[in-house]
Amino acid sequence: MRSILSVLFPHACAGCDGVTSTGGFCSICSPTAYRLDGRACPMCSQPMETRGVSLCGRCLKTPPPFESTHALWEYDGAIADAFRRIKYGGDLPALRSLCRDARPWMEGLVSSLPEEVPLIPMPSHPSELCRRGFHLTGIALRSLTKSAGRRVVTSLRKVRETRVQASLPFGERRRNVRGAYRWQGPGTGAGRAVIFDDVMTTGATAEAATTALLEAGFEAVEVIVLARAP
Ligand SMILES: [Zn+2]
Ligand SMILES: [Zn+2]
Repeated sequence: MRSILSVLFPHACAGCDGVTSTGGFCSICSPTAYRLDGRACPMCSQPMETRGVSLCGRCLKTPPPFESTHALWEYDGAIADAFRRIKYGGDLPALRSLCRDARPWMEGLVSSLPEEVPLIPMPSHPSELCRRGFHLTGIALRSLTKSAGRRVVTSLRKVRETRVQASLPFGERRRNVRGAYRWQGPGTGAGRAVIFDDVMTTGATAEAATTALLEAGFEAVEVIVLARAP
């Protein structure tokens, strides 16, 4: 389907087999690619009914180790379809389209960060990379920041294989990823760092990665994700 239509419309829709002239989503998928636009907890980006004026109940009770989370989309509708295609179908044209749609938002975020703040893609374990064949967060982060001229730092490593988070009950996810990440780079300069991930569900993975960065000497960690599950 794509091969014929893509002559006229060069971009794959991120969410279906359709195509678009601009990248991102086709006219059928667009209405269900929900942008959070600030309707989220400022600390963990948990989607909320109104613009984030206060923290969600979970962050009030047990604040995560990271300072804040920025999320573009709610993980639902066409966004969930897009990530299923990318993660389980290896659909790299869909990833390119998704990044094309997200780039202005990402560039706005990154432009407010001092030059020295490292942008760190959430790492995968080597065996996970072998299975998938590509490093989703690394490819996406480079694509999203290339015109901003920002350096992507890959010194955070996943040193232990873990079970797939989506296969576990929420209560077990934190234990599954605890201690799985380690900073293996040079001195941290004792400043801020930004972790980039594709989707946040419970926040357990971001918490484990943040803990590794804080233990390595970073003073504060922010998280950027493309999508946040409700
Ligand atoms: Zn579509
Ligand atoms: Zn929260």
